Amino acid sequence: MNQIYIELQNHFEEMVAIRRYLHERPELSFEEVHTPSFIANYHKELGLQVREQVGGRGVVATLHTNKPGRTIALRADFDALAIQELNDVPYKSKNDGVMHACGHDGHTATLLVLAKVLTSIREQLSGTIVFIHQHAEELAPGGAIAMIEDGCLEGVDEIYGAHLWSPLALNTVQYLAGPIMAAADRFEIKVQGKGGHGAQPHETVDAVVVAAQFVTQLQTIVARTVDPLQAAVVSVGNFEAINPFNVIADHVNLQGTVRTFNEDVRQEVKKKIEQHLAGVCTAYGATYDYHYVEGYPPVVNHEEQTEVVAEAARKSLANLNVEQCKPMMIGEDFAYYLQHVPGAFFFVGAKDSNADIQYPHHHARFNFDEKAMLHTASIFSEILAARLQM
Ligand code: MN
Repeated sequence: MNQIYIELQNHFEEMVAIRRYLHERPELSFEEVHTPSFIANYHKELGLQVREQVGGRGVVATLHTNKPGRTIALRADFDALAIQELNDVPYKSKNDGVMHACGHDGHTATLLVLAKVLTSIREQLSGTIVFIHQHAEELAPGGAIAMIEDGCLEGVDEIYGAHLWSPLALNTVQYLAGPIMAAADRFEIKVQGKGGHGAQPHETVDAVVVAAQFVTQLQTIVARTVDPLQAAVVSVGNFEAINPFNVIADHVNLQGTVRTFNEDVRQEVKKKIEQHLAGVCTAYGATYDYHYVEGYPPVVNHEEQTEVVAEAARKSLANLNVEQCKPMMIGEDFAYYLQHVPGAFFFVGAKDSNADIQYPHHHARFNFDEKAMLHTASIFSEILAARLQM
């Protein structure tokens, strides 16, 4: 067991205290005020160089060792969700309708205490460590883009990020080179027909019939257009034509989501949806509006840095079970950092073994085993040990 891990362990109580303090005071994406100022003050007290309001509400703290080496960035997000907490814990959210239901409070506490421990042994380190505290991960367009535009990656050679993951057993760490999380997009469509009497279809353009054919055709995009060795999902979640039983619909509103791992596939699906829509509408004399909203791009881990994560996880704690995962169809704006510098994102098991039921992320009863924070900090410190020196 190395010195940093012992130090982290000595600071575990503080990590938990910070996490619970933040848990009581959650703030919504793009509305964070108290959280970034708390983070900035913590780093200032450590004597780090601190930049506030980076890209809006982000905080960037830099630890210079004044010795040559790489510049490695670690990122933690700090926003919460519009959920009324149902957990009965002493540190329950004090902000009505807002809850840290994804573990970003834990990400933040992990990075802060790691910064403290590293600062205390800075003379043993080389290179530069950049702590990126990002606002607004939960809500597109997200905080990452604006923080990057505001220079948070300037001089950074590599970036690493982690998510505490409650479906995953404590002591398990998952990594994957290449695409690990999906692009998560949304579309809204209006099929405009010509309404009329249910008994006189020949006088109308039945928007329900047109839209129904379109929805059926949509299912051929994945089956017949996308390379079978690539992954994609096209789902229509909302099909709305509210009329009395004897009226032919004037229009239909549709909403759905597209999930992909590859940018070419994503653009292909986006284009193909409109081709089907235009084709069906033309055939029946209907018209349409098509609105496609691109969410976060896929998170694509870099090969070399993913290996760094896996090695660091194996070295960090003897009892960690380190394994490859399958890509997941969820989204994360860590994707943007990886478009600029090499790096990797990984999952740290945080299943609460004391809980009877493990509620999923974004659930009003979500919680996690706080020991996972210690594991994350330990893996981060091993990554730094491996990468700060050239
Ligand atoms: Mn999250």
